[in-house]
Amino acid sequence: MEQTFVMVKPDGVQRGLTGEILTRFEKKGFTIAAAKMMMITEELAGTHYGEHKGKPFYEGLVDFITSGPVFAVVLEGENCISEARKMMGKTNPAEASPGTIRGDFGLSVSKNLVHGSDSAESAEREISLFFNDAEIL
Ligand code: ATP
Ligand code: MG
Repeated sequence: MEQTFVMVKPDGVQRGLTGEILTRFEKKGFTIAAAKMMMITEELAGTHYGEHKGKPFYEGLVDFITSGPVFAVVLEGENCISEARKMMGKTNPAEASPGTIRGDFGLSVSKNLVHGSDSAESAEREISLFFNDAEIL
């Protein structure tokens, strides 16, 4: 079954939205195959966001994602990679539709609450960055 990597970012955890966000994915019908609260190190941030190195927002992005605990999750279910992205809404909450996580709860592109893998390749890479095999049930 398809799996994706989803993460409640530090702003979502701090605002107490972890349960709300996970509930949406569970109600949709996806199952949680792995989950943990953790701090992201500078090193992990650099690997996870490697594709954005050199962009103007990169330093701020790394500072933000390492600023507090995140809630990392492996979701499982049919088409969960693209479906989870749909449920998250556009990157910039100002452009995200109501009914999406970012559209309902977000205001700023740098604090947009949630991350989701953008392709099958990203999902595989990100799942193995954040979880070892024994943690995925
Ligand atoms: P994510 O990878 O977090 O799921 P995404 O795939 O929708 O989000 P990306 O283009 O991969 O968006 O950007 C990664 C993250 O970098 C965004 O979620 C956002 O927090 C931040 N970001 C992207 N563009 C900007 C920007 N122009 N200014 C500030 N932050 C940005
Ligand atoms: Mg992305």
